[in-house]
Amino acid sequence: MKTAYKFRLYPNRQQEAQLALTLDTCRHLWNKALADRKNAWESEGITRSYEDQAALLVFEKQSNPYLNAVHSQVEQDVLRRLQKSFDNFFRRVREGARKKGYPRFKSINRYSSITYPQSGFKLNGSRLILSKISGGIRTFVHRPIVGRIKTCSIKRDKTNSWYVIFTTELENPTKLKPKTTIGVDLGITHAAVTSDGQYFDYPKYHIQDVSWGKLIRFTVSKAERAGKTVVLVNPYNTSQRCSACGEIVSKKLKDRVHICSRCGLIICRDLNASMGIRTLGLRGIACGEPTSGFGLCPK
Ligand SMILES: [Zn+2]
Repeated sequence: MKTAYKFRLYPNRQQEAQLALTLDTCRHLWNKALADRKNAWESEGITRSYEDQAALLVFEKQSNPYLNAVHSQVEQDVLRRLQKSFDNFFRRVREGARKKGYPRFKSINRYSSITYPQSGFKLNGSRLILSKISGGIRTFVHRPIVGRIKTCSIKRDKTNSWYVIFTTELENPTKLKPKTTIGVDLGITHAAVTSDGQYFDYPKYHIQDVSWGKLIRFTVSKAERAGKTVVLVNPYNTSQRCSACGEIVSKKLKDRVHICSRCGLIICRDLNASMGIRTLGLRGIACGEPTSGFGLCPK
């Protein structure tokens, strides 16, 4: 499963100048490689491949100081993007699409990102180290990264802010067979009640609505780091439905005990709800899908 993490970058002046120059070098490379493809086709009927152009790049790097100042894999990625762009063009031609979308030459505002597809980057705490860029770039890492980082892209937006986007790969957690599972009901009387009978109360100050969202995010990120799965489920009816037999047992908010006349279960209403939530969550894992409109499997 692929996940993308986008963080704001705060390059210093020197780093920003180097990044801007890198973008521009890559843009020139794109335009040059596109012209080369166009030219080879129009004058000689030859179709250039990625490999052809990568070989030319190695040759050109020797005498071009701009190309030499950019990490090789970043340049290869430019050629790969161009290849992809042509692949898409030829596919649309085959499909007889109305808009064929022949790859375009890029003006300075139309080229805004570069990619380190494998190597040449390292996140060191809150510093991003990039090959061919001086020092570490200050990075606002606002959430933990889970899984192995595969690619690193640098992007400049229209307001001249810089971002890094990491993509990570994780094994699909729906393949896991959970050994232990716990349902958690978030409520008003207690902050949380778990299906194994633990009660967690609010701190004295009440920040209920805010704290639910926080608690969920905190739990999800903790679980991810521990290799666990959190399944969020739609809690609709979990306070009314009997967790043992499925019977709907209507109760008002003030009714604190679940008393099922069908199967005889008598337990605290929140505990009953958390057990029902556990069942819903397990169903979600079993079918690898969220159980409802608002349930979601965050990983
Ligand atoms: Zn029952």
